[in-house]
Amino acid sequence: MFSFQNISYYQQQLTGEETTCAAAVEYYLHKINGANHLNAFVEVYAEEARARAAYLDEQRKNGQPLKKLHGVVIAIKDVICYKDHHVTAASAILKNFQSLYTATALQYLIDEEAIIIGNCNCDEFAMGSSNENSVYGNVLNALDQTKVPGGSSGGSAVAVQAGLCMLSLGSDTGGSVRQPADFCGIIGFKPGYGRISRYGLIAYASSFDQIGIFGTNIPDIALLLSVMSRQDRMDSTMDQSPVIERSAEVKKTYSFCLFNEVMEHPSLDPEIKKGIELLATKLEGEGHSIKRISFNLIDHIVPAYYVLTTAEASSNLSRYDGVRYGHRSSKPTTDLEQFYRQNRSEGFGAEVKRRIMLGTFVLSTGYYDAYFQKAQEIRRLLVNQVNEIFAEVDAILMPTVPATAFPLGQDQKDPLATYLADIFTVFANLTGIPGISLPLFSHSNNMPFGVQVMTNKQDELTLFDISAMLMQHKMRATASNI
Ligand code: GLN
Repeated sequence: MFSFQNISYYQQQLTGEETTCAAAVEYYLHKINGANHLNAFVEVYAEEARARAAYLDEQRKNGQPLKKLHGVVIAIKDVICYKDHHVTAASAILKNFQSLYTATALQYLIDEEAIIIGNCNCDEFAMGSSNENSVYGNVLNALDQTKVPGGSSGGSAVAVQAGLCMLSLGSDTGGSVRQPADFCGIIGFKPGYGRISRYGLIAYASSFDQIGIFGTNIPDIALLLSVMSRQDRMDSTMDQSPVIERSAEVKKTYSFCLFNEVMEHPSLDPEIKKGIELLATKLEGEGHSIKRISFNLIDHIVPAYYVLTTAEASSNLSRYDGVRYGHRSSKPTTDLEQFYRQNRSEGFGAEVKRRIMLGTFVLSTGYYDAYFQKAQEIRRLLVNQVNEIFAEVDAILMPTVPATAFPLGQDQKDPLATYLADIFTVFANLTGIPGISLPLFSHSNNMPFGVQVMTNKQDELTLFDISAMLMQHKMRATASNI
């Protein structure tokens, strides 16, 4: 029976003829079939994945050297373009739309012989925290089916959580990879801004968006990043620093910081707080240093994030007008404005409409200075603060989310409360630094939660080294040890 631990071991099994790509694909297709009720996938490319596996098995038999991702079975979020496959951003406005080209990051995976098994459910246009804003319906958390998997990349998270693929891709504009990873008990990684080409990623807020990776171990995630971070002339915002490869040389002790205002935040679940504190104490005991610093901008980051991202979204989503892209209403009209109004009103869901309106408002004459301009100033202050912090420490430690996975339906009742829960993740997107959520803890309510680690811009290497070290610290932060 096939089982997966990590890419390196899987490829050893392939070369040792202990397994085949075909066996891996059959295993995952079988598991996906049995997990239909979780609603993680929008489409499964069964026949295509089988054909690809057979081709790769044949190549190996013929003595061809294995490429870096030979036979690695990967699922993608429904916001990543894959030529001749549907891509809809879980929206009725893009129903039946087929990609005209393949996203660069995805093409790099395919070039290294990955197998793409299907695309995954998500919140519409990646806007949300629960995967309940989807035209395909909500996704269930495989650990407790009364709970959300998080969002917006909920389907991609559950695909890894439930063992329906080896790794998956999501997108992270304000936490959409790290937050569902925290809720599902897996690793979720967002690279620094500009690390991975955004060409072929459906835009939500372009100065925040990054493709991110879900997985179960650090070496696999680091390998995927090293492949996807290759340069691309189609994205002019790409970082020009060289591709990252993990080295064998690892620093032994690190300096970390904790923000007082985060650890004392009224929204933070006491058990999560305790878990992070226990980890900090343990790290200090091992010779690492923990600095506690003040971060007085904490209450400005969620408002700044929602002003800037909705402004960018209102502009990015204006292309879905039913002329070149998107749903066209069947109601007859000869009035152009009415024509746009009908197409967009029928095509977009409630959360997307709310954000387009909010974004249009903060950009409007008369309110621009009060909202958009102010939010940009806050963003600048945050970047300055980050530069000061990383002049002194290697990494920031934080909870990923203030609470564990919440029940289905709760988000719909109070969108503002849901926005506020993004408080710990949007920081990395506002400042462009890399961040990761590591599944180290379990709560007495039986749900997992993670610790978030962030390093300086362009320093994914240190982030991976620290993460690999922290993954040895799996601990329970249950009521009993509080
Ligand atoms: N929850 C955040 C939002 O709704 C995160 C979105 C994201 O990262 N794509 O905007």
